[in-house]
Amino acid sequence: MNYDIAIDGPAGAGKSTIAKKIAAKKNMIYVDTGAMYRAMALYMIREKVDLNDPAAIAAKCENVEISIRYEGGVQCVFLNGENVNSLIRTEEVSEAASKTSVVPEVRRKLVSLQQELATLEDVVMDGRDIGTKVLPYARKKIYLTASTAVRARRRFDELMARGESAKLDEIEKEIRDRDHRDMTREESPLMQAEDAILVDTSEMTIDEVVEKILSLIKD
Ligand code: C5P
Repeated sequence: MNYDIAIDGPAGAGKSTIAKKIAAKKNMIYVDTGAMYRAMALYMIREKVDLNDPAAIAAKCENVEISIRYEGGVQCVFLNGENVNSLIRTEEVSEAASKTSVVPEVRRKLVSLQQELATLEDVVMDGRDIGTKVLPYARKKIYLTASTAVRARRRFDELMARGESAKLDEIEKEIRDRDHRDMTREESPLMQAEDAILVDTSEMTIDEVVEKILSLIKD
């Protein structure tokens, strides 16, 4: 049986940064499931699907093929054969992914892809439902969180560093809305798995979080 690590938590908790570092240290494959939901959302935007119409999203998702390949150790997401890595990190796609990911047909399709990946390799997989739904038998489960204010500030600093304009209060509101959608959807809502360890990163540096998780894995 594979040795898998599940890292779940809300937007901006630092999951992908931390998960990537843990995977590199433990020589495991990092799987970013959010990128798959983002690729699916990009497809819906391109097809001009009404993002508030679950039936339309469900019907359209039949035609979508999402796949993952690793190029130079970096996860690349392919949408119907096109590498869309550079197109899925915009605010528009974030917002759309948060909406389209509530649709059960979208989730079923992507969860089976994620489970398939985990049968092939030892993975560090991050997302919202990895410990509860995708890999319920993961060897270690971490629930990574931080206060809403801290998560908004991190996102704001990231956008500033990229030279983009942003308003802190708007980012905080978007984060609250995304959390709400993730936590209240019917199909596999975001929640801490019973056997997951809670790590609150509000007052921690990235290195401290990585050290903490490595020590938990060692146990
Ligand atoms: O983690 P990231 O922000 O890239 O995820 C984009 C969106 O995809 C999230 O807002 C969430 O709604 C959705 N998602 C999900 N389940 C996952 C990963 C992401 O619903 N396992």
